[in-house]
Amino acid sequence: GNGPEPSKDAQSQTESSNAESGSQKTDAKGNKIGISMPTKSLERWNRDGSYLEKEFEKAGYNVSLTYSDNKIDQQVKDIEGLIADKVDLLVVAAIDGESLAQVLSEAKNQNIPVIAYDRLIMNTDAISYYVSFDNYTVGKLQGEFVADKLGLANAGDKKFNVEFTGGDPADNNAKFFFNGAMDVIKPYIDKGTVVVPSGQTTFEQVGTAQWDTSKALSRFQNILGSYYSNGTRLDAAICSNDSTALGVTQAIQSDYAGNNEIIITGQDGDEANLANIIDGKQTMTVYKAVANEAVATLNLGEAILKGEKPDASLIEKSGWSFDCTYDTSSYNNGSAVIPSYLLVPVTVTKDNIQKELIDTGYYTMGSDGYPH
Ligand code: BGC
Repeated sequence: GNGPEPSKDAQSQTESSNAESGSQKTDAKGNKIGISMPTKSLERWNRDGSYLEKEFEKAGYNVSLTYSDNKIDQQVKDIEGLIADKVDLLVVAAIDGESLAQVLSEAKNQNIPVIAYDRLIMNTDAISYYVSFDNYTVGKLQGEFVADKLGLANAGDKKFNVEFTGGDPADNNAKFFFNGAMDVIKPYIDKGTVVVPSGQTTFEQVGTAQWDTSKALSRFQNILGSYYSNGTRLDAAICSNDSTALGVTQAIQSDYAGNNEIIITGQDGDEANLANIIDGKQTMTVYKAVANEAVATLNLGEAILKGEKPDASLIEKSGWSFDCTYDTSSYNNGSAVIPSYLLVPVTVTKDNIQKELIDTGYYTMGSDGYPH
């Protein structure tokens, strides 16, 4: 991959509202798949887009893949374009889960099934299924990691200072991540074992618009300046994902006076963060194998296109080598509970990078000593 911040040049080439025409290929089944990804500027979506494209093309489909530069209006236009192109199936990772109802009602009118990919799309009856990871568990793994590392369960009278950094409030996942972590830490806040010096303990207070690294950086610089400049020790920064963890890590490096080790969590296994983990600047990331998420999406999409009504049996029929649960209660999009295929995230630290990320083939270890 290219790291989290592609150059302006790369961005103007790749973030066009046009489908990438180079990827078109004739399809034996005559079916076209429209894939709408949010942005190339957050690293993981580059991986998602190429894995999805590869899986559907390998199965003989004709793929149009769009990236919308994290701009809501552009994503609406991109999806309109895919509908006009008469795609047979839409796979959409929403920038703003609340903003696609209108364009997707057009998809529904044209009988184009829609899979919500990774992020739930809200307030529409046009989506038939949701494929993601267990988002609550992602946050729970972060909270449990911090609780374990600090030894919160047996802390006695000790007190630990912890701060939270959340994701984009427009992304339905963000609240699940926050709640998963907070549900683990909250009992310790109530007991007084964990203190949050900034007082920012609600999802609304800790959010980071667009998951933006520089926004996370400046918010955390403010927190350090206001609550830690008197020498108060920070013990852990629970960050919902890697793009926000990157900003928080930078803020700590520039604006934190202490020299204790600070536990920093993340999610995704972005390359810059894996390098930080190897260098001891970030402590963990929650890895989600998006290669498997693409396989699940392909098999679900194929079943839908065959006119089947996929349910829990899809998991066995598809013979997946990875764990996945079929969930029909967790994800209500305001219109209905959306049947969901949820894959399983794993905690990655310095100690198991090799086993989880290199031996599995998701990354290769570069000659610089960092995974790429
Ligand atoms: C994804 C995360 C990702 C975040 C920002 C979320 O919807 O589930 O994996 O870190 O978006 O890209």
